[in-house]
Amino acid sequence: MSNHRQRFAFGASVHAMKLPLEGGCRCDAVRIRVTEAPLITFACHCNGCQRMSSSAFSLTALCLASGFTVTKGEPVIGGLHGEDVQHYFCGHCMTWMFTRPAPLPHIVNVRPTMFDDHAWFAPFAETFTKTKLPWAQTGAVHSFEEFPPMDAFEDLVKAYAAQQKP
Ligand SMILES: [Zn+2]
Ligand SMILES: [Zn+2]
Repeated sequence: MSNHRQRFAFGASVHAMKLPLEGGCRCDAVRIRVTEAPLITFACHCNGCQRMSSSAFSLTALCLASGFTVTKGEPVIGGLHGEDVQHYFCGHCMTWMFTRPAPLPHIVNVRPTMFDDHAWFAPFAETFTKTKLPWAQTGAVHSFEEFPPMDAFEDLVKAYAAQQKP
């Protein structure tokens, strides 16, 4: 059991995350499992995420592919159908479940609201605030106008890990 906590910028704290994280799509035809703690958590306000999430922003738990398994069903490709990024959906209920960025094959971006228990989740950083809806607040402690540059990204992962220590 891990003791992962995050304190929001506005002072609230969320409860501890427990591994493994089990999850499923809206109809539960596709089930997933994550056995390693996410490297970092994000909210993204880009237009693509707004469309695919049907909401103001998407939520992401950046997970290691080595700790990620589809335990039931066969997810299908949706979204952009691009070579750089593969968006995976349940083929029955069409829920957007996770994304594999082709340039980073060791990473799977899991939509954390798929997890049966996601009350532990809070975004540590938010991206594409330049297209953020004016009222949208995520509680993220780091904000970026677009995606952070790769060097800033490594520092963010370290800062997230440091914050998870009890
Ligand atoms: Zn489904
Ligand atoms: Zn986005």
